[in-house]
Amino acid sequence: MKLRLLIVGAGLSGAVIARHLAELGHHITVVEQRNHVAGNCHCARDAETGVLVHVYGPHIFHTDDVEVWDYVNRFAKFHPFKHRVKTISGGQVFSLPVNLHTINQFFGTTLSPQEAADLLAQKADKTITIPQNFAQQALRMIGPQLYEAFFKGYTQKQWGVDPAELPAAILKRLPVRFSYDDNYFFHTFQGMPEHGYTQLVTHILDHPNIKVHLNTAFTQALAAGCDHVFYSGPIDAWYGYDIGRLGYRTLDFERFTHQGDYQGCAVMNYASADVPWTRITEHKHFAPWESHAASVVYREVSRPCGIDDIPYYPIRLTKEQALLQQYVARADEGRGVTFVGRLGTYRYLDMDLTIRDAMDAARHFANVTAKGEPMPAFVVRPL
Ligand code: UDP
Repeated sequence: MKLRLLIVGAGLSGAVIARHLAELGHHITVVEQRNHVAGNCHCARDAETGVLVHVYGPHIFHTDDVEVWDYVNRFAKFHPFKHRVKTISGGQVFSLPVNLHTINQFFGTTLSPQEAADLLAQKADKTITIPQNFAQQALRMIGPQLYEAFFKGYTQKQWGVDPAELPAAILKRLPVRFSYDDNYFFHTFQGMPEHGYTQLVTHILDHPNIKVHLNTAFTQALAAGCDHVFYSGPIDAWYGYDIGRLGYRTLDFERFTHQGDYQGCAVMNYASADVPWTRITEHKHFAPWESHAASVVYREVSRPCGIDDIPYYPIRLTKEQALLQQYVARADEGRGVTFVGRLGTYRYLDMDLTIRDAMDAARHFANVTAKGEPMPAFVVRPL
């Protein structure tokens, strides 16, 4: 049976689900409140310089998931890309993630891998056996000096709270390496789409069974004539925020242009709490196969997300967890809508996981509808 499905949001989640179900013959309507597809990985050519800009901040594609990698390569040409990040701390530039170069630079040493591992083991706080939060995780891994130089101030600025209040999992995103490998990610596949993520998502959505409506805010009336809704907006927005708003961090980008090369790399982090921005992104370095005389640069400042701001990072501290639980319980009781993606499931999601989850959601929908069973509110649970 061919169904009429509504997908709210034309980001990665919405596009991947739309495509999968369109290929099965269903009729898909996608509504997107912005004037472009691709959500926060939207890219656009800067009119002044011609540089391809990551409008909502840097997005680097990296994954170990072969199916996801094959999927994105089906819709866009990817150039090999290795993300290398530097950080400024105490008036010096260091290599990230913390690696043998960082350790030797920081301590003024020429240690071998084993010697560096021994040094950090000696500096690590061994009284912490099971780290309960970000600060403890860092202190246990690398000790107080490296923690204070590279993580404490940055994390305070990024999240607006003391790192002792944050989950340890956030730090687990960053490896510590006892080699000179300064690749920011440790995934097998890494690359950048030649013409940006907006073109990638446009190609995913390009199917005769998919109709995309930009500049169209979701209203419950739109859902009325549909057999099922996949909702990639904020879960609390679906309920009109009636029991409160889930907290997010938003970002302000202070754009400026520069003739030539501003900083010599794509991303320079600023570790010190005294500098207001967390990082400076120079967009042309994300497309090293292009050549531009001028440069577009973003200073990135994190702050609490207000009602009219764009939500970026879910905060997920105790207060938000309790509220989330209530929204999830309500969603579980309902029928006809599945919550997907970063905002729908209120998770800190990389692009590859977003695509993986979306593929799984679409397949789950195909399976349950074939059996005449109801589609659950979540295929990947937020909690
Ligand atoms: N982080 C840090 N110092 C850095 C870079 C990252 O303390 O120089 C911490 C910070 O808490 C951040 C987390 O590690 O939120 C994850 O960093 P990642 O670069 O993955 O953040 P994203 O690019 O997703 O903003």
